Amino acid sequence: MIVVTRILVVEDESKVARAVADGLAAEGCDTAIAATGDEGLSRALAERFDLVVLDLMLPGRDGLELLAALRQAGHATPVLVLTARDTVSDRVAGLDTGADDYLVKPFAFAELLARVRALLRRGRPEAPARLKVADLEIDHAARRATRGGKALPLTAREFTLLEYLVQHQGEVVSREQIAREVWREPARGTPLDNVIDVHIMRLRRKIDSGPGARVLHTVRGVGFVVREEEEA
Ligand code: CA
Repeated sequence: MIVVTRILVVEDESKVARAVADGLAAEGCDTAIAATGDEGLSRALAERFDLVVLDLMLPGRDGLELLAALRQAGHATPVLVLTARDTVSDRVAGLDTGADDYLVKPFAFAELLARVRALLRRGRPEAPARLKVADLEIDHAARRATRGGKALPLTAREFTLLEYLVQHQGEVVSREQIAREVWREPARGTPLDNVIDVHIMRLRRKIDSGPGARVLHTVRGVGFVVREEEEA
C-alpha cells in the first residue's frame, strides 16, 4: 500500500511556495500551503503532516515563533527550515530551535528533495518492532501478522489497519481516526465509513475465526477496539 506523505509548506512568497508544493506533489506527496505563520501553525496543530517546510520570514508570526509553538505543543513533526543567506542565524544553524534541518535560499529543488527524503526517513515515528495481543502477533518490519503462530493472509491495507488497531489496543478507535491514520486520503470527498466497515469485516474473518478468543470488537456507534476478551 502507498502511504501518502503529507507535507505542509509554510511560505508567503507564492512563487516559492507553489514551486516547492508542486515539486513535492510531483513526487507523490500530498501538499498544503500556508501563507502566514498563523495559518501554518493552526494547520500544523490541527492536521497530521509528516513534514513541514517552513520559511523563516513570514508575515505575522514568523517561522521561528511557529516552530517554538509547535514544539511547545508537543508536536515532533520534522521541520525543514528555509532561510535567506543573510538570515541564517546561529540559532538556526545550530538547530537548537527545534528545526531538524535547514536550507539556504535560493536552493535547487533536487537539494530540497534530498533533505525532505532524509528527514522523512529519520522522522517517521517508529512503530514498535513487535506487538502482541492475546496470541496475535505483529512483526512491523516484516509486515507480517500471526495468530497462534500461524501466518495471517492479510492484504497490505488490512495489515496497516490491524497494526494501527493493535498499537491502540484497549482504546476505542473511531472510523474517522482510521480514515485519517490508515487511509490517509485527505483529499477524498466521500466518507470512508463503508469501506472501513468492509475491511474490518474481512479482517475479523481472518484474525478472529479460529479457536482463540476474539480480539477485534465493534463498539456500536463509536468505532472499534482491539483487546483480549476476558474469559466469560
Ligand atoms: Ca518568506
